[in-house]
Amino acid sequence: MEIKSLARIFLLGIYKNLERILFASDRVTDLELRKAILEGKIKLPNTVIKELCIGCEGCYNVCPTKAITMEKIEPVKISEYIIKDKVPKIDPKKCVYCLYCHDFCPVFSIFNEISPIHPRDVGEYVEVDLSKILKKKLEISEEQLERLSKILSLNLGKLLRH
Ligand code: SF4
Ligand code: SF4
Repeated sequence: MEIKSLARIFLLGIYKNLERILFASDRVTDLELRKAILEGKIKLPNTVIKELCIGCEGCYNVCPTKAITMEKIEPVKISEYIIKDKVPKIDPKKCVYCLYCHDFCPVFSIFNEISPIHPRDVGEYVEVDLSKILKKKLEISEEQLERLSKILSLNLGKLLRH
């Protein structure tokens, strides 16, 4: 890169920073953003795919900051052994983005599907048939089953031995 171009970038940088310090430029955007948030004009990203969740409370139990609450929903029978009556909700103010909830979720970690929970954005909803997913034949050790069942609020062993 030419010396002239480098000097130009350098001067532009100084100018931009001075502008920020002296005229509080760029802060206007922050203020506008804050106002929009307070007025409810900003749509927060979706962090839970309710349709794909089995309501096992695993994410709720592993979250180190108690950022997840389980919200009651109309009960839905999703298998012989599972009636889903709650789904998680993440409080972004308490979340530290450790991703434990995402990585631990059995839908992701056992059934190898997209995780129904992600602290930043779970992405677009993809049509899924939960009952088909739960019927997948899986190889999982007794030890792992026991470990997971202690955290999940459902009998994973029963679910997998249908
Ligand atoms: S990513 Fe956030 S919500 Fe998920 S387990 Fe970590 S702190 Fe809890
Ligand atoms: S761990 Fe997964 S399936 Fe279980 S409640 Fe949380 S999001 Fe739903």
